[in-house]
Amino acid sequence: MNRIINQRFLPDGSGRVCIHLFAHSADGSATTPAGVNGFKFEGARGYIACNPTQSKVTPLVRGNEHLLCTWSDDARAVSCPKCQETAEFKGQMEQLNSLVGSEAAAFAA
Ligand SMILES: [Zn+2]
Repeated sequence: MNRIINQRFLPDGSGRVCIHLFAHSADGSATTPAGVNGFKFEGARGYIACNPTQSKVTPLVRGNEHLLCTWSDDARAVSCPKCQETAEFKGQMEQLNSLVGSEAAAFAA
């Protein structure tokens, strides 16, 4: 049986994958997959920043079609334009920029 992978791309025609921001939150609607990678780890609780009620972040399988939800909890990897407009994304980028700025200032001193 052939599998169909359904991956969303950015609407700008660039061919880049749409990567959402996964915001960690104990009250989040979704849990990332648990797994074993040398040690057992639990899934993380949180939500997709542009769609906080979305309950699944793992591929949704319908017959032979796999609908992918690509995400990262690192704002620097996020390409989704809707996620980039959220307070979660902007707050994380401000924190990252302040860290980079303080490191750059320390290096220049
Ligand atoms: Zn998004």
